[in-house]
Amino acid sequence: MDYNCRRVFITGASRGLGLCLAKKYLEEGHTIYAGVRNPGSDQITKLHEQFPELKIYPLDVSDTGSVENCFRLLSQDTGHLDILINNAAIQAETSFNTIETTDIDEALAVYNTNALGPLRVVRSFLPILKNTPAALIVNISSGAGSIQLTEIEKEYDYRMSKAALNMGTKILYNYFRGTNIRIAAVDPGWLDTDMGKRTGGYLDPYVSATKLYGLFGRLYCNEVDFLFANNEGNTLPW
Ligand code: NDP
Repeated sequence: MDYNCRRVFITGASRGLGLCLAKKYLEEGHTIYAGVRNPGSDQITKLHEQFPELKIYPLDVSDTGSVENCFRLLSQDTGHLDILINNAAIQAETSFNTIETTDIDEALAVYNTNALGPLRVVRSFLPILKNTPAALIVNISSGAGSIQLTEIEKEYDYRMSKAALNMGTKILYNYFRGTNIRIAAVDPGWLDTDMGKRTGGYLDPYVSATKLYGLFGRLYCNEVDFLFANNEGNTLPW
C-alpha cells in the first residue's frame, strides 16, 4: 500500500494540531476533508485561500446529528476515505483544580467530545472507510490518558476522557481485526497550542504534524505496529 494522494478526513481542523495536520497533508498532495465547528473561522479560511482544493464541512463531534449531517455531505463528495484522524478535543476550565473545586458536571462535556466524539465519527463514516483497500483511523490521544503514567492529582475530566478513548480504540481494534481497517491511538507531544500552552506546552504543532505525517504513513503502509504510542511510534503503557 502506498501513501500517496490519499483521502484524509481530520476533525477539529480549525486551529492547533488539526489545522497543522490539514496543512501538512495538503502540502504533500493529499485530498483533505476538514471537519470544523465554524467553517468561517479565521485560520481554516486562510488555509482554504492557500489551498482552494481543501474541502470543509461543519462538524461538532459532540452532536450525533451534526456528525450524521457531516457524513451526508462528505459522502456526496467522496465514495471512500483512506485515513480518518480523530483530533477534536476539549479540556474543562476547572481541569487543573483539585477534587474540592473541579466542576464535575463540566467533565460530562469533555467525555462526550473526547471519548464519544471519535466513536460517533467512526460509526457514521464506516461505509466509506470500508470502501477502500486499506483504511487507517488514528485517534489523537494523550499520554495523559495513560493510567500507569499518571502521577498528577488533577485533570480528572481530560485524563479520564483520554483513558476512555484508549479503551474505545482497543475495542474497535478487536472489531476491525481481519478487515481493511486499522486503528491506533497516538500522543502528539506537548504542544504550543491553545490547549497545550495552559500547562507550558512547547512543541510547535506544525513540527508535531510533520512527525505524525511520517508516522501515520508508516502505519498506513504496515511498516510499524502499535496500538497506543507517542509521536515517535514508541508504545505507551495503557
Ligand atoms: P486546541 O484546543 O488547540 O484545538 C482543539 C480543536 O478541536 C479546535 O479546532 C476545536 O475547534 C476542536 N473541537 C473542540 N471541540 C470540538 C467539537 N465538539 N467538534 C469539533 N471540533 C471540536 O487543541 P490541540 O490542537 O492542542 O489538540 C489537538 C489534539 O491533541 C486533541 O485531541 C488533544 O487532546 C491532543 N493532545 C494535545 C496536547 C497538547 O499539549 N495540546 C497533548 C496531548 C494530546 P473550535 O475552534 O471550534 O473550538
